[in-house]
Amino acid sequence: ATPTAIMVGTGLGAQRGVLFKNATALETSARIDTVVMDKTGTLTKGAPEVTDVIASGLPEEEMLALAAAIERESEHPLARAIADLATTRGLPELSASDFRNVPGQGAVAQVTGRRVLVGNRRLMTAESVDLGDMAGRRDELAAAGRTAVLVAVDGKAIGVIALADAVRDTAAAAVAALHESGIEVVMLTGDNAATARRIADQLGIDAVIPEVLPGDKAAKVAELQAAGKRVAMVGDGVNDAPALATADLGIAIGAGTDVAIETADVVLMRSDPLDVPVALRIGKGTRRKMR
Ligand code: ADP
Ligand code: MG
Repeated sequence: ATPTAIMVGTGLGAQRGVLFKNATALETSARIDTVVMDKTGTLTKGAPEVTDVIASGLPEEEMLALAAAIERESEHPLARAIADLATTRGLPELSASDFRNVPGQGAVAQVTGRRVLVGNRRLMTAESVDLGDMAGRRDELAAAGRTAVLVAVDGKAIGVIALADAVRDTAAAAVAALHESGIEVVMLTGDNAATARRIADQLGIDAVIPEVLPGDKAAKVAELQAAGKRVAMVGDGVNDAPALATADLGIAIGAGTDVAIETADVVLMRSDPLDVPVALRIGKGTRRKMR
């Protein structure tokens, strides 16, 4: 592109808070045919709230207090929501020791002399937890689009905590605008398949790649590239940085983490999913002007 076309494109973007880091970013934007979107914090607001609490074999408050003891030690948004609920309900703060975070799965600790786990089915399977009737309850909540987290004590599931993270107001419009430009939209998430599928359907998203461990997001982007796709990855988290770097175009949500913002080629200052199609259209406009 000519220097003038690049200046115009960069300036148009800046007016909307769409920051292209360099000329290459602007030029690459014109050639994208697949947009991969992280779910949590990108398509959704990233502020989950607890919607359902189910306990099995002990009082609900006791189950929640055990879960919260672990989640107070974790930085994860799901953990924060669970810890906050326990505080709001005025539950006793039990102390946790030997805390261990398991990325993309959950967390483990000793609480009041018992080994407590909070996390997804993958974590429970790895730890040989007996799910009992909590498996079915988890599945029902996941089918409803909730993120359902299991709680286990000494090898047995004692509860399910379901959380919902509201989708961003313009997420569906952003997907529709990308489709109008002939671009395929894929959701990439660590969340389980049923939850991800339900939210993707709400938003009109074509394909879902669920249950991806944080360290595997970049490999999923590379697989799409190996299949001939020219991929833009949109994300907000520390976990998303390698995938942003691998993609042909990395787009960071402005409200995201510093690592994501540093790694990206484009930063959306307004954290609005609608600015994804805007960025790609500015790229196309810039290319047209140089011909
Ligand atoms: P995302 O890709 O949506 O940001 P993560 O990779 O961080 O998700 O986590 C994937 C899944 O692992 C979550 O949906 C949840 O089931 C489980 N998980 C991770 N951390 C925690 C935690 N601290 N407490 C409970 N569940 C967790
Ligand atoms: Mg995220």
